[in-house]
Amino acid sequence: MSFFDYRDGVLCAEDVALPMIADAVGTPVHVYSAGALRHAADAFTSALRDLPSARFAFAIKANPNGAVLRLLAQRGYGADIVSGGELRRALDAGIAPADVVFSGVGKTDRELIDALEAGIGQFNLELEEEGGVLAQLARRRGKRAPAVLRVNPDVDGGTHAKITTGWRTSKFGVDIAGAPDMYDRLAKLDGLDLQGIALHIGSQISDLEPLETAYRRIGALVLELRARGHTITRVDLGGGLGITYRPEDVMPSLADYASMVARVTHDWNVSLTFEPGRIITGLAGVLLTRVIWVKPSQHRPFVIVDAAMNDLARPALYDAYHRFAAVRPDGRTMVADIAGPVCETGDIFGVDRAIDQVDRGDLAVFHATGAYGAAMASIYNSRPISPQVMVDEDRFELVGDRTMFSDLSMRPQRKSRTVDPALSGAVRQAA
Ligand SMILES: *Cc1c(COP(=O)(O)O)cnc(C)c1O
Repeated sequence: MSFFDYRDGVLCAEDVALPMIADAVGTPVHVYSAGALRHAADAFTSALRDLPSARFAFAIKANPNGAVLRLLAQRGYGADIVSGGELRRALDAGIAPADVVFSGVGKTDRELIDALEAGIGQFNLELEEEGGVLAQLARRRGKRAPAVLRVNPDVDGGTHAKITTGWRTSKFGVDIAGAPDMYDRLAKLDGLDLQGIALHIGSQISDLEPLETAYRRIGALVLELRARGHTITRVDLGGGLGITYRPEDVMPSLADYASMVARVTHDWNVSLTFEPGRIITGLAGVLLTRVIWVKPSQHRPFVIVDAAMNDLARPALYDAYHRFAAVRPDGRTMVADIAGPVCETGDIFGVDRAIDQVDRGDLAVFHATGAYGAAMASIYNSRPISPQVMVDEDRFELVGDRTMFSDLSMRPQRKSRTVDPALSGAVRQAA
């Protein structure tokens, strides 16, 4: 089912022709389809519905837009957060604190305190010392922090090196071999309510085999921990399922993923948590852009668009592929390199691509930009953060403003400026 399709030769998001959005808010602009979001959100939960007490925590880092989060919250999603800023976004979107899971290898004391005081449902511990600090912070507040231990199962997710996280050399989680003894020590801490295990082996995973291997290792660990007398009630299986960026990409189906999970976990007797990100929002967004120039070169032409690596960093970061298509294709094609205006050779969206013929002033899109698109925006080259629009049938709404350089506190700093500690990012000592 596609929510971005041509009607009378014009690319539409649901029932809205994309040129209308370009006229209303300018380009570049991230455009989301509410229908596509609902479809992907429901497909994921219904595939896994038969598992006992499954819980779904959307990985906010994939798309932190408030309208996206509210839509997902209405469909039963909690949140997987990795910072205090994401905690604020989750709560602002109406997600119950109990449905928030806090992952991340460098949570500051300030962030741990804020999450404790908000009463979040689960802390995913990434090292033993973090458990000690969290226990102490919780005890001082008369609380016990609900927690699981994130384990590194030493499995290569088979994905891009920069987004694989479950290999032994990764910074995430604790070594699975030492996990049982560490669990024994952490379980003794008064301020912790240690309930189980978490893992997340990487992103854009295209093969179920590494996931299955990792899950089986976790299953063996659960048995070992129970043999040591621990009560294990939760396992968090992370996220990571890939989506099709190239027409020829083949991804595991949700049905196959669900039956693998059911097969591997049937006798675990725990509540499972899933942390999907990309698979929920990735295909629900496009980046709408306008061609500034078609620049001739000896080799082949450059299509220079008004979107850049600050709007969509994945190609520059991971050599990622995003399909490029004209909004009003006329049947002609060309071979070109597609580039943005930023002064970096790496600001390239595609090399030697066979694409729709475009000319100066034409509108075009990059497909599948709903995850890790706007989420990774920067103001490099003093470019604004691009606006975001949500389409729902024949209506559309601005859900993220174009933010100019001057709005982002880039003024010269005055000497006696007070800094909001929550915004400073500073590591603060425990209160
Ligand atoms: C990024 C991340 C996710 C989501 O990954 P996707 O590939 O977008 O599904 C889930 N859990 C953790 C801990 C993450 O860091």
